[in-house]
Amino acid sequence: MDADQEKALQKLGAFEISSLMLKLAKKNNHKFLNAGKGNPNWINTKARLAFARLSEFGILDSQRTINRGDLAGYIEKNGIYDRLNAFLDVKNNPTDQFIMDILNYTSNELKLDQDDFVAELTNGIIGNTYPTPNRILKNAEIILNKYLESTLYNGERLADSTQLFATEGGTAAIVYLFHSLAENYLIKPGDKIAINTPIFTPYLQIPKLNDYELVEVKLQANPKNNWNVDPAEFDKLKDPSIKALFIVNPTNPASRAFNTDVLTKLKEVVKENPNLMIITDDVYGTFVDGFQTVYSVVPENTLLIYSFSKLYGATGWRLGLLAMNKNNIFDRLIHELPEDVKKKVNQRYSLVNTAPEELPFIERVAADSRSIGLYHTSGLSTPQQMMEVLFALTHLVYADGSTDKYIDECRYVVGKRYSDLVEGLGIKADNSRTNAKYYTLIDIYQLAEDKYGKDFRKYFEKSFAQIDFLLKLSENNGVVLMDGVGFGTQSGIIRVSEANLPSKAYQQIATKINELLKDYYEKYLRLKK
Ligand SMILES: *Cc1c(COP(=O)(O)O)cnc(C)c1O
Repeated sequence: MDADQEKALQKLGAFEISSLMLKLAKKNNHKFLNAGKGNPNWINTKARLAFARLSEFGILDSQRTINRGDLAGYIEKNGIYDRLNAFLDVKNNPTDQFIMDILNYTSNELKLDQDDFVAELTNGIIGNTYPTPNRILKNAEIILNKYLESTLYNGERLADSTQLFATEGGTAAIVYLFHSLAENYLIKPGDKIAINTPIFTPYLQIPKLNDYELVEVKLQANPKNNWNVDPAEFDKLKDPSIKALFIVNPTNPASRAFNTDVLTKLKEVVKENPNLMIITDDVYGTFVDGFQTVYSVVPENTLLIYSFSKLYGATGWRLGLLAMNKNNIFDRLIHELPEDVKKKVNQRYSLVNTAPEELPFIERVAADSRSIGLYHTSGLSTPQQMMEVLFALTHLVYADGSTDKYIDECRYVVGKRYSDLVEGLGIKADNSRTNAKYYTLIDIYQLAEDKYGKDFRKYFEKSFAQIDFLLKLSENNGVVLMDGVGFGTQSGIIRVSEANLPSKAYQQIATKINELLKDYYEKYLRLKK
């Protein structure tokens, strides 16, 4: 590939470039290492086994009402808690013990109506009724609120004042949200929105879409400060013409959580710009010990997006949540829209509500997700909702204070891969609490300088398109990584995912990066002669 072709390639999105590199790697190498993806290579087994077991129970229970070959009836709610109890073989089956622990926890701790909860769980898994209520099932909302509180709020008690909308992964939550913000004139073409960069590519790409024509204000992470955003950057947000702030926290690709200074700063910012809408994507929150979401600091201004994909190895399930406080500025701003705009907006929702002006924003998001007309059949499929509930319960039932063995194991796995990688490269490890270690950013120019000196770095930076290193790494060395530029980093930054390769691969990746850098260096030495 020549330099012009490489330059053209750089214009593509980060994920598109990555799939091209994958093709190059496959062509030349029988064995290649793809550390470009964020998809984890582990799964949570406990919740999945419980899902299967409860499916079995649900079918037996359904056969009580009609039983004609493969055709069965519906379960009966009355007495179902006792029937499930009798079905469980706790002595011989650890999964049944988990289900028993769920029954105890939900009745003793959460005080859920026993038959009502088991009926929702069983029917939900069987999947025989439309999701009702459509935004999220009743007991599911209580349990999932507890889960978010326990994992993300760092002790703040917001479970009871938070409302949820279950979505097809974090992806759908993002798409639905952008759409409803625009439909309700909360963001309008030309509005200023702020984002922390570098950031997960869709957040850079969506605002540029013609529909929104938003003006971005960037809060840059500082590579010299281990990719933390300096608190002073947040002063930009005091400008009231900035309508919204979109953040990924902990960040992707830098994998750092906001520290206490930043959280305090945000509180101060919201005092000065009280209408600031904050959207926080906390998909990686559980990878940081003592994580605290922005939502728990400024709950009325913040909308939270969560996904089960990464922690539980469940990307194929498509499990996400959109959470917001019952008291929130999104609803308030809708009330404060100019009369003519309000009339237009009310008209839109009058199809589904006789008092559309009272329809909360979160319900509008649910309605918009099915083009309003199909609001009555909106909502995440009930088996998906119950899978979310079961993942959440693996945490709630066994979380002893703040510890959860499964979460500890996940942190151990990515942490070990991280240390293998940085040791192999000879980079100093950042073991500070805010490092989620799910991804690592490597400054390839800095690495070149550290290993072979400033002159070599200059030559290396000047003589090749910035994507050249990544292309050669995939084509010649069989290692696929991601370009940071697509996420909004300066050039020369590459992202390694600690999520998706066998643990021993991370030393190999370091070796291959070192080997390729040496190739460039030898070329440089030959030229100098
Ligand atoms: C992976 C990822 C998502 C996507 O989550 P899904 O639930 O799989 O759709 C959203 N946001 C960020 C920052 C991610 O890294």
